[in-house]
Amino acid sequence: MTDTLTDSYHRTIDYLRISVTDRCNLQCSYCVPSTPFAHMKHTDILSYEELLRLVRVGISLGIRKVRLTGGEPFARKGIIQFIRDLAALEGLEDLAVTTNGTLIADKIIELKEAGLSRINISLDSLHPEKFAQITGKDLFHEVKRSIDGALEAGLSPVKINTVLLDGINGDEVENFARLTFDNPIHVRFIEYMPIGQGEGPAHSDLLAPAIIKRLEAIGPLVPIIRSAHDGPSQRFKFEGAQGEIGLISPMSNHFCATCNRLRLTADGHLRPCLLSDAKVSLMEALRGNPDDEALTALFRHAVSIKGQRHDLSGHAVQDMMCSIGG
Ligand code: SAM
Repeated sequence: MTDTLTDSYHRTIDYLRISVTDRCNLQCSYCVPSTPFAHMKHTDILSYEELLRLVRVGISLGIRKVRLTGGEPFARKGIIQFIRDLAALEGLEDLAVTTNGTLIADKIIELKEAGLSRINISLDSLHPEKFAQITGKDLFHEVKRSIDGALEAGLSPVKINTVLLDGINGDEVENFARLTFDNPIHVRFIEYMPIGQGEGPAHSDLLAPAIIKRLEAIGPLVPIIRSAHDGPSQRFKFEGAQGEIGLISPMSNHFCATCNRLRLTADGHLRPCLLSDAKVSLMEALRGNPDDEALTALFRHAVSIKGQRHDLSGHAVQDMMCSIGG
């Protein structure tokens, strides 16, 4: 019989997000600090063998869904073989990746064949020049190629993650939303979160309630009923549209009551909450101990310290988003 991970507030944790690297080929202004910072040392990064061992332990405790993130997951060598190895693990029901889409345009079919279930591609502007301004790289057309390739390959659903940034892309909400009329994509608007040393205040006119009003001005929005394994987004569809719209609103609307996640950082920390600095190190047990009992206990400990809800009033999370994984 499989065990389960249940926290102090009766939430079942069955979803593990793994940051496979803190390195990224882009430098998005809101995610990566503009001033130099120390990356994790190579010796501190979990090897693929170690990651597979941890995922196996997670599965024995009821983890059913894994998402790879980063940094940029495709900036790490050997990632496609790792995806293949993960996909082959018995008990894992869903394997997804969040990527900036700049390195995979020619690898979509290989990824599908490796066993990837779904893909989220981050894209904060539909204008190539603005894309370059936000990310520091002129790679808009590569991302577009990846999105088109993923749609063609049926890596379904293809989700586009768009963080709303005051004075930068707030005027693009309607254009992103209209993409869902003729394309089977899910556009997800994410409220900017004060994490690490990224720049910018909270943007009150870009919080979910204001965005919903703007979307309603385009056409009637039909709510989509949440299913048991849904993430935190509020989901909608325009009548007759092929795709969907999601709003991820950690700032304006806590979704903690339905949180089912744990996060694993590339340097071997389990974090029970994205918006809290609490973390549990697995390194000592992982590298010093051949049996899995200590790791199991640390997974349980991380779940036991998961807070009821996040609290960002008055402080930002200290660790950088690119090291936690978003
Ligand atoms: N490199 C990959 C990518 O670009 O999708 C994966 C890592 S990135 C940290 C994961 C997600 O976090 C992206 O969709 C990104 O837009 C989002 N993100 C980063 N910093 C954020 C912030 N301060 N507030 C809200 N979302 C953020």
